[in-house]
Amino acid sequence: MRFIDHVLASGAPEPAARKAPVFDPNSGAIQAEVALGTAATLERAIAAAQAAQPAWAATNPQRRARVMFRFKELVEAHMDELAHLLSSEHGKVIADSKGDIQRGLEVVEFACGIPHALKGEYTQGAGPGIDVYSMRQPIGIGAGITPFNFPAMIPLWMSAVAIACGNAFIIKPSERDPSVPVRLAELFLEAGLPAGICQVVQGDKEMVDAILDHPAIGAVSFVGSSDIAHYVYNRGVAAGKRVQAMGGAKNHGIVMPDADLDQVVNDLAGAAFGSAGERCMALPVVVPVGEDTAERLRAKLIPAIHALKVGVSTDPEAHYGPVVTQAHKEKIEGWIARCAEEGGELVIDGRGFTLQGHENGFFVGPTLIDHVTPTMDSYHNEIFGPVLQIVRAKDFDEALALPSKHHYGNGVAIFTRNGHAGREFAARVNVGMVGINVPIPVPVAYHTFGGWKRSAFGDTNQHGMEGVKFWTKVKTVTQRWPDGSPDGSNAFVIPTMG
Ligand code: NAD
Repeated sequence: MRFIDHVLASGAPEPAARKAPVFDPNSGAIQAEVALGTAATLERAIAAAQAAQPAWAATNPQRRARVMFRFKELVEAHMDELAHLLSSEHGKVIADSKGDIQRGLEVVEFACGIPHALKGEYTQGAGPGIDVYSMRQPIGIGAGITPFNFPAMIPLWMSAVAIACGNAFIIKPSERDPSVPVRLAELFLEAGLPAGICQVVQGDKEMVDAILDHPAIGAVSFVGSSDIAHYVYNRGVAAGKRVQAMGGAKNHGIVMPDADLDQVVNDLAGAAFGSAGERCMALPVVVPVGEDTAERLRAKLIPAIHALKVGVSTDPEAHYGPVVTQAHKEKIEGWIARCAEEGGELVIDGRGFTLQGHENGFFVGPTLIDHVTPTMDSYHNEIFGPVLQIVRAKDFDEALALPSKHHYGNGVAIFTRNGHAGREFAARVNVGMVGINVPIPVPVAYHTFGGWKRSAFGDTNQHGMEGVKFWTKVKTVTQRWPDGSPDGSNAFVIPTMG
């Protein structure tokens, strides 16, 4: 059986005392085992990181950027291999795996510009003969704890920026699909990154707690579900660390009466069902405004959903593949049942779906539930599967209030031909990332990614300049260089408060 180990700079890892199974979601079989590390494993990673980081921080930013350029080329050269590996553990179709890697690579491209991003600020003549300047210095050692659903993109969001800023970085991937981060760390080494600057420690809660408690780790970036994000944020901050912790989501798509419904249905097919709905920026709730819009939308959605093809991840025709584990499949089917019990109308029921020849795979059929209301548990909770809920709103204000009042606030979209409605919505909605006629408004790498409310704990977003801020500390220097004139005419005067 294939064994997925840590990637440590300090020689061969110790024999794993604990292991977890890694499934092939297409067949349902266990395809590998992953090591579950301990605090002792982390100690070894920290020792190597501490040894390597000062020299890396002292390497000029242009040279650090050159490693990023080489790394980007290597990942591109290995795109097919990485995409197949990713699909084999996650279950998403190959095109989605390539998208996962590509969105991560865009952050690597941003990190190639790190010399520009790290330029400080300078004031000449802040007082007589006095200049003030600020510089951004690396935190030292950073760690990233990542979810199963984007095993390439999210480790790259964090590692590319953290490493380019001069930090050593330790990735703790999801134990459900841990192989791609291992390959990325290997490719970083091949690109010329010094040993110890990018390491991977495998594990579960035990490893997460060791990371959160370790005094040598200065900053932790987490992405996962909200309860765990909240826990990670509190425990990390209590240990004196800088923490950003992104959580779950329940994104709404508002459909105004004037929207192009064919376009909306096409967008929803991808945004609600693509990647089997296992995206934090998926659109699992659609909100038609007005009964007439609701009826017209529903009539177009039903045949479009029936036309979706569920298949194995290597099937180029498949719209989406299996979900990640049997436990997750059962959870999704449990929420479908719950929603029906709560009064939702099960228009298309994806429970009990099987794919011929892959009867033990973790497949869930596409599901459409109408007449969902804000009082239902299944509306409040993240289902994270190929399930679209219709919540009908009578007017714009009622539609605006739904995502605004929801406890998650990651992404939202409005579909309309009315510029005023789109502009008003974007300005007033209480959510962090907004799409206007864009179903999955994931910002490009040089902007930043982050939700509001229970979708993110902490002050800074992922990547872009927010990422640079997160992975660096500002130092501000006030300098004076007296000319040493004997009459003291160049006396030192520093401006004071008040
Ligand atoms: P998860 O919370 O189960 O796991 C995330 C990480 O936390 C993993 O590395 C896991 O090993 C670790 N972990 C699990 N249980 C833990 C515990 N009890 N204590 C400490 N650490 C623990 O999330 P997941 O199922 O892997 O990923 C899906 C979730 O991630 C969804 O909620 C999704 O919305 C969210 N997500 C959010 C974003 C975002 O940017 N907001 C992006 C992607 C995914």
